[in-house]
Amino acid sequence: MSSRTEPSFRESVDLMFNRAVSLMDLPPGLEEKIRVCNATYTVRFGVRLRGAMHTFTGYRSVHSEHMEPVKGGIRYATGVNQDEVEALAALMTYKCALVEAPFGGSKGGLCIDPREYEEHELELITRRFAYELAKRDLIHPSQNVPAPDMGTGEREMAWIADQYARMNTTDINARACVTGKPLNAGGISGRVEATGRGVQYALQEFFRHEEDKAAAGLSGKLDGKRLIVQGLGNVGYHAAKFLSEEDGARIIGIIERDGGLFSADGLDVEAVRNWIVKHGGVTGYPDAQYVEDGAVLLEEECDILIPAALEGVINLSNAERVKAPLIIEAANGPVTAGADDVLRKKGIVIIPDMYANAGGVTVSYFEWVKNLSHIRFGRMQRRQEEARHQLVIDELQRLDDVMGGTWSMSPNFKDKYLKGAGELELVRSGLDDTMRVAYQSMREVWHSRDDVTDLRTAAYLVSIDKVAKSYHAKGL
Ligand code: NAD
Repeated sequence: MSSRTEPSFRESVDLMFNRAVSLMDLPPGLEEKIRVCNATYTVRFGVRLRGAMHTFTGYRSVHSEHMEPVKGGIRYATGVNQDEVEALAALMTYKCALVEAPFGGSKGGLCIDPREYEEHELELITRRFAYELAKRDLIHPSQNVPAPDMGTGEREMAWIADQYARMNTTDINARACVTGKPLNAGGISGRVEATGRGVQYALQEFFRHEEDKAAAGLSGKLDGKRLIVQGLGNVGYHAAKFLSEEDGARIIGIIERDGGLFSADGLDVEAVRNWIVKHGGVTGYPDAQYVEDGAVLLEEECDILIPAALEGVINLSNAERVKAPLIIEAANGPVTAGADDVLRKKGIVIIPDMYANAGGVTVSYFEWVKNLSHIRFGRMQRRQEEARHQLVIDELQRLDDVMGGTWSMSPNFKDKYLKGAGELELVRSGLDDTMRVAYQSMREVWHSRDDVTDLRTAAYLVSIDKVAKSYHAKGL
């Protein structure tokens, strides 16, 4: 164990920022302007529940308004505090810049364990929190647009959207005040899976580059690679599901709050998820080896480690023992600044959070655009596209007839080719493109500069440069 002390989450983000900025040539003062958090609003409000008044503490932090609206999720967890919310807001600024989502960075949180409340109680609490934020424009379609994060999901976003609409009855763009809503409340297809899907696309892109795989000592395809996932919530579940079902990866370990599961042959992600939903945890799951101290699985041998739960889990106390050659940060801040130094020295490649989990904000961006344009993606062009494809199919059919059976279309070609893209296909295509382009921008810096030896520094360089250019364009 190292004698170094661990910085806070926000200090950790700042340390990583400073490392990157020391390699840049920014005008004096701009570095600090970009790094510091503009404002954090703390609210304490009371809600009458079970015959008594309960007081809750919530935060909404705005890190950078170089672009508006600002964007970032709302987290429900007992550990929420100002430092954490500010760290997460800063990451949102860099993340949005990196994937070219036209937002500044923000984040919110409420100190609450949602599992301790009934649904109707959570609705009262969420509506009151939303009211407090909306009346200060901290929820607003053109100023501040929240989304789901740990402990929140579609249900909470629908309550927030409805609360805002009740307070702004004539705002035609009211639905764009929050993203991650259910489809029937102005949401978009593919938002629930988006962050996990983005993790899958990020790994697919990484595996397209031989040089990058070699840096991690890996080769070949994702097929057959051994993965360990921490947190089988929204992000971890979707990432593990898609990577195992579609790319052939083997999920050998799953770490949850109450312990970990290990199976060298691979775990059935769907079955584990169903078990958690039914029993509240992984304990007792029959088809795997159970480990009470789940965190030890972070140190287990595997090809890819996917921390997808919370921050600070890979730190100075365990970094030295981590064996995975590749870590993809599906959660925000799972590796502390100190651990990052240790892992880098060990030659472990880290695909950083600001890129790896950007799928959520990318599809949130699509949802926000959909809400502002008041039309579903694909509605105008889908059938026209199908009609044009039909022309090609008819011609091929004619060729088929003329050739008298010596040539024919491949099975399923007709059905696949004819199908015009609906909203889900378009969302996935936009997300895939975003993840590929952003990865390529990072790797170009990683491989072209001698002073950049890791993807995180490269990610910061790309995003800080974009934020700096926005300030410059504003004359600052
Ligand atoms: P979630 O609440 O859906 O899931 C979190 C999961 O982690 C749960 O299954 C929980 O039981 C588990 N968990 C909690 N504490 C744990 C512990 N100590 N050890 C092991 N497992 C633990 O949250 P989520 O939305 O999946 O978010 C997870 C991470 O991804 C967070 O860091 C969040 O900021 C980040 N993220 C989420 C989104 C999104 O769209 N939801 C987008 C970007 C980043």
